[in-house]
Amino acid sequence: MLHHIAIIGSGPSGLFCADALLRQRPDLKIDVFDRLPTPYGLIRFGVAPDHQGTKAVTRQFDRLFGGGSLRFIGNVAVGADLPLGRLSEHYDAVVLALGAHADRALGIPGEDLPGRYGSMAFVGWYNGHPDFRHLDPLLDAPGIAVIGMGNVAVDIVRVLGKTPAEMTASDLCVHAAEVIAAAPVTDLYIIGRRGPAEASFTSAELAELGRLERVRPIVEKADLPDGLPSGIDPAEAKIKEKNLQILHDFAARTDDRPVKLHFLFHSIPEAVLGQSRVEGLKLKGRAAPLSAGTVISAIGYRTAATGDLPQPNQNGIIPNDNGRVAPGLYVVGWAKRGPSGTIPTNRLEAKSVADRMLADFADDTAPAKSGSAALDTWLRQQGLTVIDWPGWKRIEAAEIAAARQGSPREKLADWAGLRQAALPSETQPAAPRAGQQ
Ligand code: NAP
Repeated sequence: MLHHIAIIGSGPSGLFCADALLRQRPDLKIDVFDRLPTPYGLIRFGVAPDHQGTKAVTRQFDRLFGGGSLRFIGNVAVGADLPLGRLSEHYDAVVLALGAHADRALGIPGEDLPGRYGSMAFVGWYNGHPDFRHLDPLLDAPGIAVIGMGNVAVDIVRVLGKTPAEMTASDLCVHAAEVIAAAPVTDLYIIGRRGPAEASFTSAELAELGRLERVRPIVEKADLPDGLPSGIDPAEAKIKEKNLQILHDFAARTDDRPVKLHFLFHSIPEAVLGQSRVEGLKLKGRAAPLSAGTVISAIGYRTAATGDLPQPNQNGIIPNDNGRVAPGLYVVGWAKRGPSGTIPTNRLEAKSVADRMLADFADDTAPAKSGSAALDTWLRQQGLTVIDWPGWKRIEAAEIAAARQGSPREKLADWAGLRQAALPSETQPAAPRAGQQ
């Protein structure tokens, strides 16, 4: 009988799945585990800090957590701290909502040089992911190259290109804001291995690059076809046509701005160059390498699973049959289908996995399992400190209290600070009195 469900991962796909399940079966008890002390996964650490509107979906999830049927169990890594095998003993069904947290490798020489970063690490750094707080990226040269022509690459060049004033209402972490503001950047490169019609960014995101105060997009008119090549998926054709129009508009610009954003199409990276750090990027067919002190690859992600979690296949996803991995074990989101689509894509897909799960259990007569009660004791015995929903709310309150003017929050970005802020006030260290340091 389906009664207790564990969801591993509190990003959008996991929480949309919880929502879909509870809409149909309000009697269910669902526990959402996360390795991090904070919920929301991609919404907190992936969505760009200046796209606050996209993060508004968390209000819906907050209501869900307030409803009494959904628990947050943060600061517990399933697979590492808590084996999946043990978890499964307590829950009738387990949903893997792991996301895709590992950067895909470029597979070219020089990719390990200091100054070359994957987008997971780089975006994580400016978005306050505690694993990347101390990345301290080298942003000290005038040239910065971003490989990839998806929306993540667009996010990165925009965050690097905006002025501090343009980021006022964002939640860009102060440790990153200071480094970016001080960076002597004059040339940003966004590099696609295919042509303008194949670039995967969407039109609204591309158009935004044309409205930045200090950045001028540079597009060579000769690189742009007049129309779309044949064979483009009709569902995609509208976006691609709009993209082409925007790129033509960029190519027609003649204004001068202190930062140039160069769109390089049909440019295949061959090697990251440098002796002890990144100094440039060699592109196939171009005699002169790009001069760049930083190379960021934004070429997609793959799912990484630790311990006894099912391992991803060579495509970076957990093998599944329409969301079903094994009896009682399901997968949703990027771990199911790969890193594609926007946040609302996950709503529909998570609903279809929830429907499948409910159908699978429709005739199940086995007694329901115990849920988290016995597990809580085991977690305590292991010395694991669970950060629950009230703990997260204390973190959130501390972040709101620390926000600079105009910004919604100043994220706590290190493990110790997050865990400390989650403690109830009576266990917080006393604040220094006036005159004390
Ligand atoms: P993506 O859209 O798949 O883009 C990846 C880019 O990397 C493509 O241009 C791809 O080129 C290129 N690439 C892959 N392997 C490469 C290699 N070895 N060398 C050079 N280039 C390589 O992925 P993403 O940008 O990481 O975005 C992930 C998902 O999140 C997407 O669905 C995206 O739309 C979504 N997202 C949405 C927003 C938003 O809505 N504002 C913001 C961020 C992310 P090819 O096409 O040639 O493979």
